[in-house]
Amino acid sequence: MADYKMLIDGELCDSASGETFATYNPATGEKIADVAKGDRKDAERAVAAARRAFDEGPWPKMSGAERGAKLREIAQLIADNSAELSEIEARDGGGTIRKAMMADIPGAQSAFEWFAQMAETRPDRTDLEGSPFPVSSNYVLFEPLGVCTGIVPWNFPFIMASWKIAPALAAGNTSVLKPASFTSLSALRLAQLINDADILPPGVLNVVAGPGGTVGEELAGNPMVDKTAFTGSTEVGRRIMQLASGTVKPVTLELGGKSANIVLDDADLDQAAAGVLWGTFMHGGQVCESGTRALVHASIYDEFVNLLVERSAKITLGDPLDMASDLGPLVDPSQVETVERYVALGREEVGEPLIGGHKPTDLADGLNPDSFYRPTIFAGVPNTARIAQEEIFGPVLSVIPFSTDDEAIAIANDSIYGLAGGVQSGNLERAEAVAARMRTGTVWINDYHLIDPKRPFGGYKQSGIGRELGTQGYDIYRQAKHIHVNPETAGRDNHFHYALLSGEI
Ligand code: NAP
Ligand code: MG
Repeated sequence: MADYKMLIDGELCDSASGETFATYNPATGEKIADVAKGDRKDAERAVAAARRAFDEGPWPKMSGAERGAKLREIAQLIADNSAELSEIEARDGGGTIRKAMMADIPGAQSAFEWFAQMAETRPDRTDLEGSPFPVSSNYVLFEPLGVCTGIVPWNFPFIMASWKIAPALAAGNTSVLKPASFTSLSALRLAQLINDADILPPGVLNVVAGPGGTVGEELAGNPMVDKTAFTGSTEVGRRIMQLASGTVKPVTLELGGKSANIVLDDADLDQAAAGVLWGTFMHGGQVCESGTRALVHASIYDEFVNLLVERSAKITLGDPLDMASDLGPLVDPSQVETVERYVALGREEVGEPLIGGHKPTDLADGLNPDSFYRPTIFAGVPNTARIAQEEIFGPVLSVIPFSTDDEAIAIANDSIYGLAGGVQSGNLERAEAVAARMRTGTVWINDYHLIDPKRPFGGYKQSGIGRELGTQGYDIYRQAKHIHVNPETAGRDNHFHYALLSGEI
């Protein structure tokens, strides 16, 4: 029997096969729990439940205000259980408890609050003025899409779950979520809390953990699904599009990145160095929008690189449950192996890193050194190097020199990705001019990583399709239906448009 069950049709249950899979604390290697392992059958059952809840249940017929109130109850439930949820998040995924308490859990809570506000305030109908046809009146109704599935990665499991569930439910859809296999616990615990509190009608929210190749593929391909929202790698994103194309489902894709953080020559160097390190190494660089390419003006290059090295030496790695740890482990030893392969490649491409380039040697007893990796900085990296082009998803920074703003923009845009970026500068007008020319979905000026549910988030180019959050992130969960009303209910036998057909003008 599973310690963490799936939620289908208002019931917490084991998988149909009875199978489970283990989830681990990467900091120590200890097993945390057995999780119900879904397969295609469970995913199909969850989709069917969501379909019934949409077609026959009260949820899509409720007013936006009523649904908003339910989402606010979920937000409150998250707040009331934040200590437990933070600990689950840190233990299962390896992010620090500091991050979980300050960002992950409150971030998910505020996503539910924002989409509650959207449901409460965004109109369900817009009247159109100025019809080209005499006497008709015209309006647009905004309706839910139906069954929406969400597939999320392991780097921000709880926030990512909230970004899929909250907008879908707010707009009147029903939802099936698949968490990542490394980090299923926080989403399953939320499902359990919501179910125990009896907040939603059965089938409105379903959560099924299990492999991407079975549960994930079913959620993207099933013909009863009306929309799929995916966050993860660009490679799997392409597969999701293929699967969704079978029934021409709309997709939202939030994919990889290789974002540039541009440091102009008029930046406050201390502030900018802190900003670049925060922008790269937060959560060990396992962040899709990390500024993993620091583009630094040649005139400040040496001084700036020294500051980066000096400051990154002070970053402490340790038990993520310890409030004093700056960084915990990566999500799994296999992710450390990926990082090691890229660092070996970087040594071939550009030489020895200025700092890092190895696992830590000073971890406390009981921690698994194979799960950790020291922040690593390569300098003098040509933008053509693979370490400057490919997403590493670990604590590896490539520093790239430039001489003019035009050159910085050209380097920043020379990427298959376009998720985010930064500009660090003392001159806001100049910084905004640079930001305007960057082909990315978000640019932070003199900041980084500040994502808020009120602001749209998503990528250009191969970083994705569509925007989550903001008003845009609500509207993509609704259909627009145009209604045309001719008030002349009788008496026009020679109707103008019939005349167009028949020639009896
Ligand atoms: P991933 O391998 O793409 O997996 C993401 C999710 O998709 C997981 O739930 C995974 O399930 C599932 N999946 C895998 N193969 C699938 C398939 N064939 N069909 C349907 N679902 C499938 O990515 P990851 O390794 O978890 O996360 C790291 C990547 O995500 C990075 O490349 C990063 O840039 C990207 N990311 C992007 C954003 C963003 O907002 N743009 C945010 C976070 C992460 P399993 O866990 O069971 O394999
Ligand atoms: Mg785990």
